[in-house]
Amino acid sequence: MLCGSLVFFLLLANGCSNENSKETMINNMMLKEWTGPYGGIPAFDKMNLSEVKQAIEDGMVMSLKEIDEIANNSEQPTFENTILTMERSGAALDRAFAYYGILTSNMSTPEFRDIQEELAPKISEFSSEISQNKMLFERIKKVYKESKKQPLELDKQRVVNLVYEQFAINGAELDDDSKKRYAEINKELSTLYTNFSNNVLADEEGIVLYLTKGQLGGLSDSFIKAIAQAATDHDEEGKYAISNTRSVAEPFLSYSTERKLRKKVWKNYKSRGDNDDEHDNKEIIARILRLRDERVSLLGYDNYASWRLQDRMAKNPENAMKLMNAVWPAALESVKHEVADMQAVAKKLGDNIKIEPWDYLYFAEKVRKEKYDLDFDKVKPYLQLDKLREAMFFVAGELFKFQFEPVPEGSVPVFHEDVKVWEVSDIVTGKFIGLWYLDAYARKGKRSGAWATTYRSHTSFDEDKTVLSSNNSNFIKPAPGDPVLVSWTDAETFFHEFGHALHFLSSNVKYPTLNGGVRDYTEFQSQLLERWLSTDKVINNYLVHYQTGEVIPGELVAKIKKAATFNQGYKTTEYLSSALVDMKLHMQDDLSNIDIDEFEQSILAELNMPTEIAMRHRLPHFSHIFSGEGYAAAYYGYIWADVLTSDVAEMFAEAPGGFYDKEVSSKLVKYLFAPRNTLDPAEAYRLFRGRDANIDAIMRDRGFPVP
Ligand SMILES: [Zn+2]
Repeated sequence: MLCGSLVFFLLLANGCSNENSKETMINNMMLKEWTGPYGGIPAFDKMNLSEVKQAIEDGMVMSLKEIDEIANNSEQPTFENTILTMERSGAALDRAFAYYGILTSNMSTPEFRDIQEELAPKISEFSSEISQNKMLFERIKKVYKESKKQPLELDKQRVVNLVYEQFAINGAELDDDSKKRYAEINKELSTLYTNFSNNVLADEEGIVLYLTKGQLGGLSDSFIKAIAQAATDHDEEGKYAISNTRSVAEPFLSYSTERKLRKKVWKNYKSRGDNDDEHDNKEIIARILRLRDERVSLLGYDNYASWRLQDRMAKNPENAMKLMNAVWPAALESVKHEVADMQAVAKKLGDNIKIEPWDYLYFAEKVRKEKYDLDFDKVKPYLQLDKLREAMFFVAGELFKFQFEPVPEGSVPVFHEDVKVWEVSDIVTGKFIGLWYLDAYARKGKRSGAWATTYRSHTSFDEDKTVLSSNNSNFIKPAPGDPVLVSWTDAETFFHEFGHALHFLSSNVKYPTLNGGVRDYTEFQSQLLERWLSTDKVINNYLVHYQTGEVIPGELVAKIKKAATFNQGYKTTEYLSSALVDMKLHMQDDLSNIDIDEFEQSILAELNMPTEIAMRHRLPHFSHIFSGEGYAAAYYGYIWADVLTSDVAEMFAEAPGGFYDKEVSSKLVKYLFAPRNTLDPAEAYRLFRGRDANIDAIMRDRGFPVP
């Protein structure tokens, strides 16, 4: 029902404005203004699958109409009548997308996936219509050029620069033929992305290994309880379900004594999207790569990576590769030592084996016990999800002056009974800042992993908009009445995602565009938050035993700290191999006959990848880079950001007040959180630190030699 782009405004005058849906537009709940308390909140309880398609389609029509009015304004283009009006446009569609996001990530169903597949190309067409609107771009360009002669206020200037650059790098200056092809490519890509992620999800949900009672060796009671419940949910009462997701596979691989089963679970998990069946992703990937390459060549770039990195903190693939190559050899060296330690343990236990990838986590646990006398099973009773959440609130209070209070029961609609909501306000002034939604538990139709998002971001250009932020994870829901005990890694991830939420909540930006995240920078704020988990104040007040209420013993904490660099060879190698393959893949010149498995293997061979370790995300299920473009040629961003993380953490550690130092934390919020993209990240970092970051701190953190 979308009108063709180039003739859109003409057709509007001719009545192609989708008359028949005017009525539904007004009545469609997904497009409606958010009402109620807290500056208006989404009506998640009223979400209806039957309305979603119409909502997105109508929302796009409304948005395009707004954009069109801007483009056709007869007045001379100014910041106000062009950029500012654009910033204001698309509000109804944004609301619809908040619901769409929930249906995509938290509450997906086969029915919704059909709708998604149908909408994806239309959404792509929609954004092409905007990014390729010639008249609109001419106006933006005029404002941009004018601002180069007569600079605007800092934040206005930043918006103008970012908007102009976004249009320029997305094909606004192409000739008509190229524009047409550009839009076709994006449309096809959008479908491929959807297919890719649906295939991964299908292999995560569809491949379940059922165990019997005799096959549970080494597994913890709570894990057994959870997989028994999962089997019951699958109508396999009395069995134990190992579903094909990270939250199940990793603990299984770490503790199961059944080597053959470990191999099976590992193979299932690492073969997602790579089973040469209807859910195989290899052809999809090859097609995606070719289309990406063709698209950037229309713009005159050598490869996708160069195009992608120009507005990132790294600026170009060479800088990103330089960092990865500096760390890689140290990681490989570390793996050698780790494997030797594991072989020795295996020998001692009478296992005459060569360590294979499905053995790594299992024997690493054994080494951890032997070398550091650290048994993470002994730590787990002190890691209660609720207490960890309270600890995060405490940290947010100390650093950000935020106070969290649960909203009155039933006052904020949620999309599932498991979702809980808190009100966030300023401790000092009492000013309301926003809401924080937590969707903690795994469920069918929810994507795996953990993530943070917003339903509404802070802006102040019209009126003060408060933040609706959310954290999502996949903890296994306990039997009623039981506490949720999580692993140390999961506790870190919980803090990590909360760091993203704090980054959203602390925003003081004026314009929506300035809320945008710079991909290799926005992981820094979240990674940094992880560091507070092991601060004394958190340990002594929140890491308490779920039965006795006793604080985690000091010697156990000392062991955790001592073991901090443990297995860093493995972690760095599994991550960096994925990041390097991602980057090299997107720097390729010739993709005409690319064979995905072969490419993956040849790059790994070139890198001297240890045979005992697999990539964290093999290409056939590397959702970061193929279910969209967010992390394509950008997976390196995590280590890029971690360089900053380590450097800032050292600054805290050396400050008089340590991790709760008032001066450092207020500077942190001021320069590295609140401005989001109002300041150039490299510049913001220099304002905070007084210099650029270097890799010394990250090498120390990982127990690698400082070059
Ligand atoms: Zn993150």
